[in-house]
Amino acid sequence: MLDTLRRIIQLVNAAPDLNQALDIIVGHVAGTVGVDVTSVYLTDAERMQYVLMATQGLRKDAVGNVRLNPGEGLVGMVVEREEPVNLEDAPSHPNYRYIAETGEQPYHGFLGVPIIQHGKVLGVLVVQQREIRQFGEEEEAFLVTLAAQLAGAITHAGASGEMSQLLEKTDEVSLALKGLPGASGVAIGQAMVVYPPANLDAIPDRKVTDIGDELEGFHEAIAAVRDDLRDYANRMSGVLPSEELALFDALLLMLGSDSIVGETVTRIRAGNWAPGALRETIAEHVRVFETMDDPYLRERASDIRDLGRRVLTRLQSDHPASRPAYSRTVLVGDEISPTQLAEVPMEQLAGIVSASGSSSSHVAILAQAMGIPAVLGVEDMTVGRLEGQTLIADGYRGDVFVNPSVIVRDEYLRLQGEESELTEGLKKVAGTPSITPDDVAVPLYINTGLVSEMEPGVHSEGDGVGLYRTEIPFLMRERFPGEQEQTRIYRKALEAFAPRPVTLRTLDVGGDKMLSYFPVQEDNPFLGWRGIRISLDHPEIFLTQLRAMLRASVGLENLTILLPMISTVTELDLSMTFISQAIGELLDDGLEVQRPPVGIMIEVPSAVYQIPAMAERVDYFSIGTNDLTQYLLAVDRNNSRVANLYQTLHPAVLLAIRQVINEAHGLGKPVSVCGEMAGDPAAALALLGLGVDSLSMNASNLPRVKWVIRSFTASEARQLVDRACAMEDPVAIRKLYNSVLEQGGLGGLVRAGN
Ligand code: PEP
Ligand code: MG
Repeated sequence: MLDTLRRIIQLVNAAPDLNQALDIIVGHVAGTVGVDVTSVYLTDAERMQYVLMATQGLRKDAVGNVRLNPGEGLVGMVVEREEPVNLEDAPSHPNYRYIAETGEQPYHGFLGVPIIQHGKVLGVLVVQQREIRQFGEEEEAFLVTLAAQLAGAITHAGASGEMSQLLEKTDEVSLALKGLPGASGVAIGQAMVVYPPANLDAIPDRKVTDIGDELEGFHEAIAAVRDDLRDYANRMSGVLPSEELALFDALLLMLGSDSIVGETVTRIRAGNWAPGALRETIAEHVRVFETMDDPYLRERASDIRDLGRRVLTRLQSDHPASRPAYSRTVLVGDEISPTQLAEVPMEQLAGIVSASGSSSSHVAILAQAMGIPAVLGVEDMTVGRLEGQTLIADGYRGDVFVNPSVIVRDEYLRLQGEESELTEGLKKVAGTPSITPDDVAVPLYINTGLVSEMEPGVHSEGDGVGLYRTEIPFLMRERFPGEQEQTRIYRKALEAFAPRPVTLRTLDVGGDKMLSYFPVQEDNPFLGWRGIRISLDHPEIFLTQLRAMLRASVGLENLTILLPMISTVTELDLSMTFISQAIGELLDDGLEVQRPPVGIMIEVPSAVYQIPAMAERVDYFSIGTNDLTQYLLAVDRNNSRVANLYQTLHPAVLLAIRQVINEAHGLGKPVSVCGEMAGDPAAALALLGLGVDSLSMNASNLPRVKWVIRSFTASEARQLVDRACAMEDPVAIRKLYNSVLEQGGLGGLVRAGN
C-alpha cells in the first residue's frame, strides 16, 4: 500500500495541471481499492458548493455539472462532519440523495473521505461499489492518507487559477494563501516571478561551429550584464546601505578587467561554446581566490561566481535579464535576494511575496526599511504559475490573494485609501512628545540595524534606538567584520542619534539568522546555539564586538549594551566579565572609555522567573516579545502553518510581561519592550496598561503607537489590561482592544495588529 501511495503522490505532483492530477487520482484509486466508482469533489469556495471534478465510473459529462450544497447528500455529510463516512448500503441512509446526472446506478458500498488542509475542507474523495460492501479499516486508512497528501497538490493547483478554469467560471476566484507578515502595508499589483540564478557548474563543454557568432553573443551578454549592474546600483543608491552598494562596483570592475572577458574569448576561439568557456574561466578564477590568504580576497570568490551566473543567464536567455516590470509589480519568488529587489525600479515595486523567509529575514529587513509591504513564508505557493497574475499582498496579516475577486479587491482598495487617510492623521502627531493625556511619558525608540537608516535627521521622531540588531551588518557581509569596521558602523549609529541613547545588542545569530560564513547545522536551531550562547563560546568574536561598541561611544557616551537570549544568571555573569575585560583592555590602551548601562533581553521564559537575581546585575530589561511569545506558547514564530496560534495578546504572554515589569519596578529597574508587539497599536495599549517604561519598534510603526499613547490615559490603559488579563481567549482580548481603539477614533489602526 505504501508503495502505491508514494507512486500516486509522485504522479500527482508531476502532473502538468489539476485536471490531469485528478484523473491520475481517480484512475489509480479505482485500481488499488478495486471499486466500481472513484470520484473527486472539490469545494467551490465562492459559491459554497461541492463540484464533481473527476470520476472513473460515473458519466464523464457529469464532471463540472454536479454541484452539491453544504450538507446535501452523503458528500455534503462528509464535508460537514469533516471525517470519513463509510456505509455498506448508501441508499438506506437518510442523507442519501440520488443524482440522476451521474448516470448512477443505485450504488451500495460508499466511502467518502474529506480532503482537508489547514483546517479547511478542500473537497471529498469518494469510492463506491455496486454491491453492498463494508470498506475495511485498511482501505479507509489508505484513502485518508492519500487525501491528506492530495491537499497540498490541490492548493497549488488552485493558487494558479486552474480551479477557476475547471469550474468554468467567468468571474475570478479569490484564492487566499497564508504566509507571515514581512513588512507592513498592503500591495496590489501584478506578480513578477524571479528565479534563482542559473547554475554555471552544470554547463557542459560543447563544440562550436561559428566562432564569430559565439563571440558576438558573448560580448553582447557582457555588455548587457554591465548595463544591468549599473542600473541596479543607480536604483538602489540611497536605498541599500553603502556596503551593499559596493558589491555592484566590485562586480563591474571585474567585468571591466581583461582577465575574465579575455580568457573566455580565448577559450571560445579554441572552439568551446560561450557558456562552457565562461564556466572554465570562472572556475579558474574562483580557485585562485579561494586559495588566497587574505580572508577578504578569499570572499571575492563568491562574487566571481555570482558574476559568472549573471553572464550565463544572459547567454542562455533570449529575453533580457531585467524584464520590464509592471507598473505595480509584486515581486514573487521561492527566495528573493537583495540584488533581485534591485531588478525592479523602486517606483514600480509595490510589494514582495516569497515562499521562504520570515519577518527577520534579510529581505524583510530591507523591505521594512524601504517601506515595501512584504509577505514571506508562503509555503503553499507554486511560484512558477503566478507570473502576470493579479496579487494582493497584505503585509499586516501575512495574507496573499491570487486573482482576487472584485469584492476582495475593492475591500483592499478601500483599506489602501484608509491607510493614506491614516497617514494624514499620523502627520498630526509628528513632532509631539509621546505622553499620555494624564502625563505619563512613554519614550518611543526605534529598532534598526541598517546603516542606511543612520543618516542624520532620518529619524527625528524616535527618542533614540531601543534595539540595534548588530547581526544585520554581520549578515550583510561575507566574513566577520573586524574591530575597526564595526567601530565605524556603530559610531555612525551613535552619532546619528546623539545625544539620544542608542542600544546596541550584541550579536544574535543562530535560530533563523545564519551567517553564510559561519554555518551551523542543528535539528532545533531556535533551541540551539543562538545569541549569547555563541558569543560566550567565542570570546574572540564577543570581545571584538564589545571593544568596537565601547570605542564607538567615546566622546558621545550615548551607548547602552543589550545582551540577547540570556537564560541563566551564569551567562549574565560571564558576559559582564567580558564587558569588564573589554573596558580594561581599552583603558590600558589609553582610551577614555566609560562603562555604559548594560541590560538583558527577557525573551526566554526562564529569565522571566529570575528577575530579582538578574536585576542585581543589570541596569535595565528589554522584553523581546518575538521570542518570548514563541517560547512561551511553543509556536514557531516563522511557521505560517501555526501563525494563527502565534498571539502576542495571549493571556500567558500578558501575565509574563506583567510579572517582569512588577518585579523589575520593585527593584528600581526600568523595562522596555522591543519585540514587534511594541509596534502593534492594540498591543502597545496593553503594554501601556502593564506599566512599561518605553517601547521600541520599526520606525514605520512609531507614529501609530505615538497616536495611541497620546489618546489614552495610563489609568484607562491599566483598567483595560486588568480586564484583558482576566480573560481566557486571545482572540477575545484582541477584539476588546480593537473595539477600544475604534471607540477612541483610532479605528484605522486596527488593521495594523497581528
Ligand atoms: C525579540 O525576540 O522580540 C527580539 C526583539 O529579538 P529578535 O526579533 O531579533 O529575535
Ligand atoms: Mg529575539
